[in-house]
Amino acid sequence: MQDDTIFGKIIRREIPADIVFEDDDVIGFRDVAPQAPVHVLFVPKTPIATLNDLTGAQAGLMGKLVLAATHYARREGFAADGYRIVMNCNRDGGQTVFQLHLHLLAGAPLGHFGARG
Ligand code: 5GP
Repeated sequence: MQDDTIFGKIIRREIPADIVFEDDDVIGFRDVAPQAPVHVLFVPKTPIATLNDLTGAQAGLMGKLVLAATHYARREGFAADGYRIVMNCNRDGGQTVFQLHLHLLAGAPLGHFGARG
């Protein structure tokens, strides 16, 4: 449950974060351990633990999450150069915070990815 995660605490301003985007549904803040020159996490304010918990009724929220990231990329001027969006799910996906979130990575060529290099 989001209330029990570090991201819930950031949404409620109980702990600090470098917040770079916010609207009624989504908050965006810089990752504390960036994996690229730009590494921002976009998090829905609705508590959703993993991608597996998304319902059809929340399809619009997923769209808002992606659009928040693309809006940010345009606003910051790197949309044309490009970026990567990543969402991790559970153990094999490498998820460590169990509140749905989207990673936006940019600012340098990111190369290929995957478990087999
Ligand atoms: P996951 O591995 O769940 O997909 O991603 C969780 C991300 O949250 C990681 O990249 C990690 O660095 C980031 N993170 C964990 N705790 C904090 C925190 O307290 N503040 C911020 N800004 N990022 C955090």
